[in-house]
Amino acid sequence: MASCAVCGKEIAGGAVKCAICGAEMHRDCAKKISGKFYCRRCSREGKRRARYERMAQRAMVGKKLPKKLW
Ligand SMILES: [Zn+2]
Ligand SMILES: [Zn+2]
Repeated sequence: MASCAVCGKEIAGGAVKCAICGAEMHRDCAKKISGKFYCRRCSREGKRRARYERMAQRAMVGKKLPKKLW
């Protein structure tokens, strides 16, 4: 039985995996940042990644826009 990476208790069901280190934890213990779950240790890195991803997406959308907007 896997134990939660955040609180250390056993995970009976509904476990989620950290998007960075892959540690299993309770859904309630995980930090959810832009649709992905992160453990406490990785949540700071997750926030940074989420911000970069949003910026990258915005940049891509900007490039895809037609030159003529009318
Ligand atoms: Zn937990
Ligand atoms: Zn992690």
